Amino acid sequence: MSDKIFVTRSSIPELTEYIEEITSIFDSHFLTNMGPKHDKLQKGLCEYLKSDNISLFSNGHMALELCLQALNLKGEVITTPFTFASTTHAIVRCGLTPIFCDIDPVTYTIDASKIEALITDKTSAIVPVHVYGNLCDTQEIDRIAKKHNLKVIYDAAHAFGVEKDGVGVGTFGDASMFSFHATKVFNTIEGGAVTYTDKAIGEKLHRLKNFGILDQETVCDVGANAKMNEFQAAMGICNLRHIDEDIAKRKEIVELYRKRLGATDGIVLCSEQSGVKPNYAYFPVVIDETKLGKSRDDIFEALAKENIYARKYFYPLVQDYDCYKNLYDSSLTPTAQYVAKRILTLPLYSELPLETVNIICDIILK
Ligand SMILES: *Cc1c(COP(=O)(O)O)cnc(C)c1O
Repeated sequence: MSDKIFVTRSSIPELTEYIEEITSIFDSHFLTNMGPKHDKLQKGLCEYLKSDNISLFSNGHMALELCLQALNLKGEVITTPFTFASTTHAIVRCGLTPIFCDIDPVTYTIDASKIEALITDKTSAIVPVHVYGNLCDTQEIDRIAKKHNLKVIYDAAHAFGVEKDGVGVGTFGDASMFSFHATKVFNTIEGGAVTYTDKAIGEKLHRLKNFGILDQETVCDVGANAKMNEFQAAMGICNLRHIDEDIAKRKEIVELYRKRLGATDGIVLCSEQSGVKPNYAYFPVVIDETKLGKSRDDIFEALAKENIYARKYFYPLVQDYDCYKNLYDSSLTPTAQYVAKRILTLPLYSELPLETVNIICDIILK
């Protein structure tokens, strides 16, 4: 390829559409602190995500971190090592101890059948991740949480718009975090949100993202600053108008990848989940060198030589990061270790031409 192809490319509206959306900001001088654009986006997202309660944030990471703080958790939190740095960092930065549970070999989400063995008298919550938009076993996680009186906070950063039997993904558990980072299916440049069930959590989240301020003379929580500003919200309002079109284009790309790569021994694809409306956020493949004769790294290099930059996402596992490796042993989560060593996430974004998808498949199959 003469132009470099990256694993993703941010969706943006036409410049004129964005300018029209931000014009009123220049008239009002209302730039941040939950203004009219923020409120308009919040309403639109409640409808799109089919969630009654949503709180918007400056980014997904702060949304998750402040959500964990809002729930007053203590001690240990059971989570997955097959995720982005943010999930674990949020837990640790809240003074909690992550306990890593292995993943399911089919969905790559937390293996719910292995959670109960990790519960101790210090466990206060479970933080699963809907990896690549694949839905966790929410029913089993719910059963375990109720039985042991644990909170459940989903990292739904990958799962914007995903539904199970018509129910929005953000309605599972006590709360869910969404990321609206530039690289995600839906973006507000940087941004994020928490959907939640208990209204009291909403009030706390509202304070925590604004320094814990209750009113002009009362500061009642040790909060931070994580408010979504009006320019972010305006970008979100524009992008939300085009999200269904975007996801439909992603679907075409995913279907072509499946058709071209689905029948090859040694290339393992994620299967679609029954009853789940997907968002086609990512196209991960697991390369089994014993069957294909080539490793994940061979394919990564072959693509890079042609200016196509796939990503080893998620690799390395969180336990193997420099900042955690002295505390954890990734061989205790063997399925996660197996997948992390073989995973490759292929380019996927709404404007990716189908011809390019064919070229990528040709290189892989060769
Ligand atoms: C992107 C992402 C986050 C963090 O979201 P930001 O908006 O970038 O702060 C957290 N968890 C996962 C799984 C992500 O992919």
